[in-house]
Amino acid sequence: MLQKLRANQTLPSAETITAIATAQGRGGVGVIRVSGSDITAVANGILGKLPIARHATYSNFLDSNGDTLDQGIVLYFPAPHSYTGEHVLELQGHGGSAVLQMLLQRCLDLGARMALPGEFTRRAFLNGKLDLAQAESVADLIEANSTEAARSAIRSLRGDFSTAIHKLIDDLIHLRMLVEAMLDFPEEAVSADDIEQRGILLSKLQTTLQLTLETAKQGSLLREGAYVVIAGQPNVGKSSLLNRLAGEDIALVSAIPGTTRDVIRQAIQIYGVPLHIMDTAGLRESNDEVESMGIALTHQTLCKADLIIMLLDASMGMTAQDKAIIESLPKDIPRLLVLNKIDLLHGNTPELPWSGAFVSVSAKTGKGLEELRGKLLESIGWRDLESGTFMARERHLRSLRQAQTHLTQAHSVLVIAELFAEELRLAQRALNEITGEFTSDDLLGEIFSRFCIGK
Ligand code: GDP
Repeated sequence: MLQKLRANQTLPSAETITAIATAQGRGGVGVIRVSGSDITAVANGILGKLPIARHATYSNFLDSNGDTLDQGIVLYFPAPHSYTGEHVLELQGHGGSAVLQMLLQRCLDLGARMALPGEFTRRAFLNGKLDLAQAESVADLIEANSTEAARSAIRSLRGDFSTAIHKLIDDLIHLRMLVEAMLDFPEEAVSADDIEQRGILLSKLQTTLQLTLETAKQGSLLREGAYVVIAGQPNVGKSSLLNRLAGEDIALVSAIPGTTRDVIRQAIQIYGVPLHIMDTAGLRESNDEVESMGIALTHQTLCKADLIIMLLDASMGMTAQDKAIIESLPKDIPRLLVLNKIDLLHGNTPELPWSGAFVSVSAKTGKGLEELRGKLLESIGWRDLESGTFMARERHLRSLRQAQTHLTQAHSVLVIAELFAEELRLAQRALNEITGEFTSDDLLGEIFSRFCIGK
């Protein structure tokens, strides 16, 4: 089924494609990759012959006059035992951009065409070397900015995520077989035991799906991160807190400066989990036109957040303005109350009309920052899973949730075999989308266009 569907996908896989596979710039080694159903023209032109399969062969790389363009190692992987499943040639030359460009041009002159972004991996998918979730994890591994993200991506590439999905699909198929067998013999009465067994198997499936979803959520958090907005009155220390969070444990900073009334964003990492923190214009009534625009922007930003840090000046306690801001925050977004400037309290704690949790910090001295980091991760739903998480994307979560909805609906029609079977079929279809058994060309285009060229 998998192979048949993939064979139906429209891709001119016979063409020979090529690209520089190593990063731009200078390096000790530069790699040119060639893949296609016939690469002899390229091999003969550059190397004078097809090299021995799966051997590292030292060779001259020749131009059209037989002069040496470069020297290096060549690897030849005949189909189907290669990354793409086609014949693959890898030329490992010197990593200078001019020499690599000459070599690339030589491959193009010999009939190859430039590979599109992700086209090598797309061919690997279409040839059944990887499923779609694994193919996506190739890009995630390359893009990983933390060891946690890289480890999760490699787990997905290894197939951990796909195995979990296949297990769910197998269980679903088993249940479908039970029910659909009954549909074939409608004259036979369905016993209460049959219905009970259906319910038990369905509940088991739901539990496994829930666990997979939980793990996938962690993976998605590692990949996409969470959006955290710092809200509060002017001067409570929002910018100072942002700088403090960004200044320590920082792996990647991309400040987009605007005016002070703009929303300032910084990407930070807490224990490898990316957080996009936004410092907003202080929230208060204002007659200043520019400031009012800034405040309007703040409200828009707040609505898109995964978490809002409501920041107070501890030396002022909770003022009427703070209460007004809290009232104005979107109700459905989780919030974390943070008291800043506790260094001004000299050990005293302010009276707070607040029953929920809060964290006390000093952006000035750094006190309480470690606790805040932990609370931030907890509040966005990060759990350090002992078994390790696997990389997942928003697309995967959507499919898992869709499958979950169909299983819930299946529960409500447990006794109506036709409807029950249909819900199971829809759940299976949603799961199949994750690994790519049912995937439109549009989605494939969207996924692989985000890859780098040469992968
Ligand atoms: P924002 O307007 O909310 O972004 O506030 P700022 O970060 O610009 O800080 C306003 C003022 O409060 C500045 O003078 C900061 O130096 C000061 N400030 C910020 N955090 C602390 C803190 O933890 N303790 C003390 N004592 N002052 C702070």
